[in-house]
Amino acid sequence: MMRVRPEDFGAIVALDDPPALIHVDHALLAWLGHAPSPYADAPLGHLSAPTEVHLMVTNRCPAACPGCYTGATPDGDEPSEAALLDTVDRLADQGVFHLALGGGESLLHPALFRVAARARARGLVPNLTTSGLGLTPALAEACRVFGQVNVSLDGLDAAYRASRGYDGADTALRALRRLHAAGVPCGVNYVLSQATWAGLEATTAEVAAAGGQQIELLRYKPAGRGRDGYTDRALTEAQARALTPRLIALAAAHPSLEIKIDCSLVPFLCAADPTPALLSQLGVYGCEAANALASVDARGQATPCSFVDVPIGDAATLGAQWATHPTLQRWRHYARDEAPAPCSGCAYRAVCKGGCKVVSRQIDGDWFAPDPECPRVLAHRRGEAYVPVSPGAWPVSP
Ligand code: SF4
Ligand code: SF4
Repeated sequence: MMRVRPEDFGAIVALDDPPALIHVDHALLAWLGHAPSPYADAPLGHLSAPTEVHLMVTNRCPAACPGCYTGATPDGDEPSEAALLDTVDRLADQGVFHLALGGGESLLHPALFRVAARARARGLVPNLTTSGLGLTPALAEACRVFGQVNVSLDGLDAAYRASRGYDGADTALRALRRLHAAGVPCGVNYVLSQATWAGLEATTAEVAAAGGQQIELLRYKPAGRGRDGYTDRALTEAQARALTPRLIALAAAHPSLEIKIDCSLVPFLCAADPTPALLSQLGVYGCEAANALASVDARGQATPCSFVDVPIGDAATLGAQWATHPTLQRWRHYARDEAPAPCSGCAYRAVCKGGCKVVSRQIDGDWFAPDPECPRVLAHRRGEAYVPVSPGAWPVSP
């Protein structure tokens, strides 16, 4: 199946097999036999809708991880099935491609699989994030409805305990093995913090052995309970500078594993001076809040991204006011319109977009400020010339 969504540059084409979102220009759109984009003569300057929306199906979770970015609790908010189905319909009407279902612990919602089935019926690809708690072999089979399932795993043994406050690594790895056995595309979300920094290689080896196809690295973010004691947990400047050489070595050691970084880690990747062509080849994008990304939380509130507690209305507002809502406009155009130095003169501004605004809010008290943990920003604030990281040999060359 192929879905085509008109954009001002042409269109986004969504393929099921292989799963991909492909940006095509106007000429290729015509060659594919589609009508011209209605935005060709009146460019929007942004995407016509998010490509991916994070939908929090519940904010209930028994685990009470100290750094939980949603602040989930055993009796947290949980939308009704009807509310979730209505949100799915509204996002489908808007032309969203991917629905990232998460929590809380998503598997606790009794309607999770019906919500995923509705998403499929409306042409969206539902993906799931879970801690793996309660993922029985039968549930693993049911997970075939998802495009991909990622299990949260922030290290092994003591590292997992230090990060999440309980012993869950074995449960997570068992869930990964069950998903793999059921033929579900699966991987791991690994949150990089001071506690989990050392265990990356050992955990990656376990993920590969358990049949995981991807390890997605996420920066520890100051949201929800993660705001408390943030600076004791966030990566240090030395760790931020060491990340890219480490990723390159990890990719070389596990050529069959997809190693992915989240939007907020892009300033750390750019610390090693990749060429624009290489970034494009690697499919890197930075802060896409209110452009490629948006979120709907467990209260039904839409926000620019899932780590941002700035509600703009509900899913209906997201669709109706996508182009005009002043909050969405400011979030998506911050880097272009108002980012100060050093981001304003940075070669990576168009991709990185000034780094992670969640971190800027935590450290500087302002969402709209250069990422205060970016090595370039730190050098600028010290009045030093920036000295790029030496990355070693990049795994691909443009
Ligand atoms: S603020 Fe931007 S970089 Fe940070 S998590 Fe949200 S989308 Fe990603
Ligand atoms: S200086 Fe700004 S735009 Fe450049 S990499 Fe750092 S955060 Fe991103």
